[in-house]
Amino acid sequence: MAIHETTTVLGDATVAELTQAVRGEVIRPGDPGYDDARTIWNGAHDKYPALILRCAGVADVMRGIEFARSQDLLLAVRGGKHSIPGFSTCDDGMVLDLSGMQEVRVDPVARTARAQAGTTWSTFDHETQAFGLATTGGLVSSTGIAGFTLGGGIGWLMRKHGLTCDNLISADVVTADGRLLHASEDENADLFWGLRGGGGNFGVVTSFEYRLHPVGPMVTAGPVFYAGDRAAEIMRFYREWVHDAPDEATTLLNLLTAPPAPFIPEEWHGKPLVALIGVHSGALADGERALRPLRELGDPVADLIGQLPYVAMQSLIDPLWGPGAHSYFKAGWLGGLDDAAIDTLIHYRDTVTSPKTEIHLQHIGGAVARVPADATAFGDRSAPFLMNITASTFTADGYDEAVSWAQDLYGAMTPALTGGTYVNFLSNEGEERVRAAYGDKYERLVALKDAYDPTNVFRLNQNIAPSA
Ligand SMILES: Cc1cc2nc3c(=O)[nH]c(=O)nc-3n(C[C@H](O)[C@H](O)[C@H](O)COP(=O)(O)OP(=O)(O)OC[C@H]3O[C@@H](n4cnc5c(N)ncnc54)[C@H](O)[C@@H]3O)c2cc1C
Repeated sequence: MAIHETTTVLGDATVAELTQAVRGEVIRPGDPGYDDARTIWNGAHDKYPALILRCAGVADVMRGIEFARSQDLLLAVRGGKHSIPGFSTCDDGMVLDLSGMQEVRVDPVARTARAQAGTTWSTFDHETQAFGLATTGGLVSSTGIAGFTLGGGIGWLMRKHGLTCDNLISADVVTADGRLLHASEDENADLFWGLRGGGGNFGVVTSFEYRLHPVGPMVTAGPVFYAGDRAAEIMRFYREWVHDAPDEATTLLNLLTAPPAPFIPEEWHGKPLVALIGVHSGALADGERALRPLRELGDPVADLIGQLPYVAMQSLIDPLWGPGAHSYFKAGWLGGLDDAAIDTLIHYRDTVTSPKTEIHLQHIGGAVARVPADATAFGDRSAPFLMNITASTFTADGYDEAVSWAQDLYGAMTPALTGGTYVNFLSNEGEERVRAAYGDKYERLVALKDAYDPTNVFRLNQNIAPSA
């Protein structure tokens, strides 16, 4: 039971009225299950909402927004609960929790899927892979499709099939004034533009319709690990190798401390490693050929690249990314990976403060970069790499230190960074960083915000503030 009391006073009669009006569950402090219901993936955000509405459908979403507005409650919107900055929870406000809405309908002939906004990638992949289909999804299968898609969506299929938002055909959205709108290229096209990268700023999406592609069910994929003292050599190799990598291959380089995982020899546990990890989503023989150079750098600590089901790859690293850890991401697009940047990365890797912290260099390009820059609200598509410093600790112990270390590393990488970033990897870094993420699209997003949420009902997000 939570010992914290929220300061928001909601009359019992008012709450009872809401409870009567919805199909879903209303949970308040003191109710059984409140502690579970208030928890999100990131253990760093321990918040106590005054009320959580577990929506059962669109009507509940509409009623919930109306309730939050009538009671002047701060509103947090939640799908898969994987917000890094913790925007899907709040103190003393209301959480609109869509995680119970997980229906997925696949049309195998049209190769499309419509999924409710509480769906996680694990559920989505399960349903679509039954037909040998998929769209770009998360590297960790417990992540929700909602926040993920609205921010862009970087995943193993992106270089072949684009970002997740590039595969969005339409969305149903409840706006701040309670209207249910359908957004697509043909209907509310301005809103549709903003939903593809602009995050949760414009309304609550209740379902997403995606384009699907034949994938797998078997793919060539997995990680290969090398000794950490070879990080410079492997980064130099990687920056060259990516030039000729086919679109089917989406890969990343990871500077990490070996976890005590069964697939890493015990003598390496706790030691620095460098991993190359990726997926080739084309023909298996092509995949084997394309990823072979990653495995031929000599003396791997462990080589797990091989043929495996796409769904297995989609959940391969789940055990290392379970809920509860304290996590802070500091990310930015890299214009390139020159020797000075490599030296900086190694210098900081050598002083890393937590064994749970990692540095990811994600190779972009391919189909992501071919979508015209102004086709969606997504920030920058031109950078070859995304650096994501995932500063994490198992508990609150050492968290502040890990955050400072990540910020210092980011600062030291400035010469190689473009200054822009990916909104879904932003922490709570303020308006300037949100502007940097959207670059010259920011003003268009403000105009959209003025049109759809002029009073900023949806402000617990990477906020685009309305002009008034
Ligand atoms: C372990 C982990 C792995 C990740 N891996 C990847 C990855 O591979 N690729 C990648 O691109 N990103 C990744 N991310 C980042 C991820 O995309 C974002 O955290 C994303 O917001 C998560 O979506 P969610 O629905 O799970 O989160 P939630 O916490 O439920 O929501 C996050 C935010 O999205 C908005 N939102 C959620 N639902 C709705 C809705 N229905 N309507 C409107 N707005 C809504 C709200 O603003 C909310 O605050 C990862 C994050 C974590 C923690």
